Amino acid sequence: MKAKNVFSALLLWGMTGLIGSGNVQAEGKIKIVATTTVIGSIAGEIAGTEAEIYSIAKPKRDPHFYSPTPRDVLKAKKADVLIHGGLDLETWRGPLLDAVGKPELMWPNGKRQIDVSAGIELLEIPPSLSRAEGDIHAYGNPHYWIDPENGKRVARNIAEGLARLYPEEADFFLKNAGIFEAKMDIKIKKWTALLAPYAGKKIISYHKSMIYFLRRFGLVSAGEIEPKPGIPPTARHLATLKKIMKEDQIKVILKETFHENSTPKKVANDTGALIVIFAQAVGEVPEAGDYRSMMDYDVRAVEAAFSPVFPSIRRIDEKTALDA
Ligand SMILES: [Zn+2]
Repeated sequence: MKAKNVFSALLLWGMTGLIGSGNVQAEGKIKIVATTTVIGSIAGEIAGTEAEIYSIAKPKRDPHFYSPTPRDVLKAKKADVLIHGGLDLETWRGPLLDAVGKPELMWPNGKRQIDVSAGIELLEIPPSLSRAEGDIHAYGNPHYWIDPENGKRVARNIAEGLARLYPEEADFFLKNAGIFEAKMDIKIKKWTALLAPYAGKKIISYHKSMIYFLRRFGLVSAGEIEPKPGIPPTARHLATLKKIMKEDQIKVILKETFHENSTPKKVANDTGALIVIFAQAVGEVPEAGDYRSMMDYDVRAVEAAFSPVFPSIRRIDEKTALDA
């Protein structure tokens, strides 16, 4: 691996005179750094063999609070392009880029950064920007990629961003975005049909990270274990939540792998609810090998939660889901 990197670096070094004047492959691969594995997965489908992609936040870590490693900093230093989620999804993005010191990768004006949230209809935009209570969704809810229609927008943003930076390959990137959208449309039809019987059903989530998925498929959030995004639950908040769950007969709690399990387990014990692992990252569960298979897993997990005859559900007592 190291030898290959050295070789690529030498190849790039020797051909710097060609940059911007020919096809990308002749100059070495584009070094893309993506902030999350979802962005990395979609970027891989758009850039194909033209790029070498490195995803920073590991799949079983909270994307809000990831701590970049020295290797992450090194990768970002060598990056030709940074692709990120925008908003305040990656609270660590600013400090990382300060350490990297490349203005062209910095949001919002850097020429070699692509913000994949562009053009997405954001939900829960607060009336004023405030972090007084530690809220980490200050610009609106940043968990938009679990609506598969937004996944298509992410792909389009990546393709358009790369086309702008590498105009000689624009057709290739834009064609791949079209292929991505067509594949997604086939899946979205299937997913919509699978979840249609459960329209209007209510769920609880740990973090306020499910709303785009729920809205797309006609499901309803009845509350979160966290009283506010990023704020740990209090006894009073949990009592209110359990009361709502009992009154409304809410039997499903969705959570990512990286939030603690003891509180959801207590809530589930007191209300008879089922805890379901909902993957927000490629690689978070073994089934989530790429963006489409992650969404596939999530749809089937939610379907199985409402209709427990299906065997595909992954519960928190399964070791693989907790192996963070
Ligand atoms: Zn969040």
